[in-house]
Amino acid sequence: CGIVGVLGRHEAAPLLVSALGRLEYRGYDSAGIATLDEGRLGRRRAVGKLVNLSDLLVHEPLRGKSGIGHTRWATHGAATEGNAHPHATPRVAVVHNGIIENFRALRDWLGERGYSFASETDTETVALLCDHYLGEGLSPREAAQQVLARLEGAYALCFLFEGEEDLIIAARKGSPLAVGHGTGEMFVGSDAIALGDLTDRITYLEEGDLAVLTRAGAEIWDEGGAPVQRAVRTIRLDA
Ligand code: GLU
Repeated sequence: CGIVGVLGRHEAAPLLVSALGRLEYRGYDSAGIATLDEGRLGRRRAVGKLVNLSDLLVHEPLRGKSGIGHTRWATHGAATEGNAHPHATPRVAVVHNGIIENFRALRDWLGERGYSFASETDTETVALLCDHYLGEGLSPREAAQQVLARLEGAYALCFLFEGEEDLIIAARKGSPLAVGHGTGEMFVGSDAIALGDLTDRITYLEEGDLAVLTRAGAEIWDEGGAPVQRAVRTIRLDA
């Protein structure tokens, strides 16, 4: 339902939670974040209101300046902590808006390769597929491209990778995503409102775009794999 991502200069967890708070108007049943702490992925998730996630983070903090977050509106699998995003392996964490239509076929394919599933969601197949390609030695971008080529359905996706403190990969097809430009920081959100406290300089991804974010900026490829320039707009949000 709602997606945020931060490659920041400060601790990411509070920024992620407050950006998710700006998306509360969309409705959701659970929420979660993942960050990189010295290169290792950590994750916290909670059912219900965002305050449950922030309470959990008080008792079990997540450190790190790079992270992704999600508010979920369940389509596949009940509103449980185990089905809340991010879905992750030690190599990669994923947040997703939308529906992966061919997830059953992908689950079978992954099952044949020894993967087992911790959730009932369509989204977990995306994380495990990406893990598979990373395990074959592909770079994060190559792995994400291989994953996207296999997905049918609608998605906005963000990937955060073990050991990659300066990288978020974002992709959209059928669900919107906005990249936010900071000064030595980069952000991504399912809409510009999510990023309202962080930046007013926004690039809207177009259908089929894949964006590689680092703190230096965004590189974007279109659906055909060609590098593209997308405008940076200064937007005004009254909120
Ligand atoms: N289909 C995914 C799920 O049920 C994502 C739902 C959403 O967009 O929040 O977990």
